[in-house]
Amino acid sequence: MTGQESRIEVIRQRILSGALPRPRPVLVYAGYSRGRVCDACGDRIEPREMEHEVPGPNGPVFMHPECFRFWQTLEL
Ligand SMILES: [Zn+2]
Repeated sequence: MTGQESRIEVIRQRILSGALPRPRPVLVYAGYSRGRVCDACGDRIEPREMEHEVPGPNGPVFMHPECFRFWQTLEL
């Protein structure tokens, strides 16, 4: 399994467990990270990286731009 495939699998599991909202078209806020942990893959979003903020049922979740793309294209 490649790193990319395992990351997609982690994101899929988090959607299924309810930790992440289901993929849907959303208005996303992007900005520079303040060192948060990505809600999609669990890795830290380094302070100089961009992060995407997605509204979720329990409040906003934050993702790497790459994780956001994976999240949006997942079919469950
Ligand atoms: Zn991530």
